[in-house]
Amino acid sequence: MARLGTPRVGQGWDIHRLVDGRRLVLGGIEIPFERGLLGHSDGDVVLHAVTDALLGALAAGDIGQHFPDTDPRFRGADSAVLLAEIVALTGTRGGRVGNVDVTILAERPKLAPFMAPMRTRLAALLHVDESCVGIKGKTMEGIGAIGAGDAIAALAVALVEPGPRPRRVRAAPPR
Ligand code: MG
Repeated sequence: MARLGTPRVGQGWDIHRLVDGRRLVLGGIEIPFERGLLGHSDGDVVLHAVTDALLGALAAGDIGQHFPDTDPRFRGADSAVLLAEIVALTGTRGGRVGNVDVTILAERPKLAPFMAPMRTRLAALLHVDESCVGIKGKTMEGIGAIGAGDAIAALAVALVEPGPRPRRVRAAPPR
C-alpha cells in the first residue's frame, strides 16, 4: 500500500435510529437521555462519521468493510476502539490526523453542555490538540426523521497529513 505523499481530505457521514432502552453515546461520551442510538455497535454516529472521514482520506474503503455488522466480534463494540484502529492504520500509511470538523444533526437532547467533553475525547482518540477538533450541533427545525427526534446523524471531514504521528497530547478520559 502506497504511503501518503500529500495532505489528503476525507468526508464521512452516518445516521442511526433513536430508540428506547439504549444508552446514548455520542462523540465517545455517554450523554444522559431517555433514548439511545440503535446499532450493532454502540451506535456512536459521531465516531462512525469521523472513522469514515479518515478512511476516505486514506482511500481505504469504509467502516462497514473494516468492521462488518455481520461479525459478532463487533456486536456492542465501543466505537472508540474502532476509531483507534483506523487512527493506527493512518499511522501505518505514513499519515497523521491534521484536523477534523464534525456537524451533529439532532433535535434532542440539547448538545451544548456536551460539546467540550466530546471535543476532549475526540482529540485524545485522534492524537491531536483540541484546537484541531471542531464540533457543531444543528437541529433539523422539526423536519424529517431527525427533526421528529427519531434519529441522529453526523457529518465529518478530516485532513490527513503525511508525517509521523505526533506525541500523544493527553490521555483519553474515562467513559
Ligand atoms: Mg454507524
